[in-house]
Amino acid sequence: MQIRTLLYCLAMALSTTALFAQGPSFNDGPYIFVEDEVYVAKWMLNNALQSQPLQENAPAEQAKIAARDFSLDFVNLQALPKPQKKIHFKTDSKIAALSDIHGQYDVAVKLLQANGIIDTNNDWSWGDGHLVIAGDVFDRGDQVTEIIWLIHKLEKQATQAGGRVHFLLGNHELMVLTGDLRYVHQKYRYTMAVFGMPLDSLLSPNTYLGAWLRSKPLAITINDMAFVHGGFSELLLEYLPDLEAINANGRAFIDAKSKDFEENPLLNLVGGNMGPVWYRGYFDEEVTKKQNAKRILKKLDVDHLVVGHTSHEAIISLFDHQIIGIDSSIKFGKSGEILIRENDEFFRGTIFGDQIKL
Ligand code: ZN
Repeated sequence: MQIRTLLYCLAMALSTTALFAQGPSFNDGPYIFVEDEVYVAKWMLNNALQSQPLQENAPAEQAKIAARDFSLDFVNLQALPKPQKKIHFKTDSKIAALSDIHGQYDVAVKLLQANGIIDTNNDWSWGDGHLVIAGDVFDRGDQVTEIIWLIHKLEKQATQAGGRVHFLLGNHELMVLTGDLRYVHQKYRYTMAVFGMPLDSLLSPNTYLGAWLRSKPLAITINDMAFVHGGFSELLLEYLPDLEAINANGRAFIDAKSKDFEENPLLNLVGGNMGPVWYRGYFDEEVTKKQNAKRILKKLDVDHLVVGHTSHEAIISLFDHQIIGIDSSIKFGKSGEILIRENDEFFRGTIFGDQIKL
């Protein structure tokens, strides 16, 4: 990583002048680093690096730090986030699920507001309801960090209200965290040039957001529903038969070295096409003929499986709500839908706030 970072900085130094000469001005951040046990927020303002140590009871100027929904009130300045252990949840309340936001902050905010999940200040208003963000916040669009801080804020506000926000990792989270930066928006080239390091180093395990992202699972259940970004192939469930094993191997994949892959071949499975963040089999007729959704659900002891990753025009239901595909193409930045489950019925929540029975 260090040699990679060095080469990266060298390449960046050479290209930065050209990049900034032609480009517009961008803001991004904050990214929070731990330097000599002090948390330091760094952000980009009009293509210039800003930096400020963070303290509790912080002075007023800290309010100016970058992303709209960033709030220091919800950042634990004592310890970095630890991996989330609980992955099975029960609720009598409403459940909503959204996926594949891909940097389209404005569409996500409109959807959440129109469906009563957040208010006009972007604060949690869903009471004791549960909201699942089923992966792929990263890549393509230019407001990824803004969404991350919104989810981070809602997570704390929801818990205070007796509800819960569940953020699950998708393939694009895994790609960025493992240094595959092919799909980042041009804006993040500026971020990387200004910070002098690749995005995966801005999100390394010893940064606040890096630890927060690594604390998240790949799959959870709520009541009789399982949620995962891509899907569960029968091959995956043969080797990793429960969500505990899938989450443990998924997290291990992120920072695995080549030695780890040799010692644990399941890391290749969990990070590959038949793994939980890449699998598209339910939407492929040839695969569906051979794979039985009912068998997969039975293995997981759930009645419904909610997945993102494979894009559709709207939320779709397969096999009488056994599989529900919620990637409604928010990535194009125009519109999208959010799944709502209320009183055992499923609805497509639209950007206008209509709820259409699925
Ligand atoms: Zn995906």
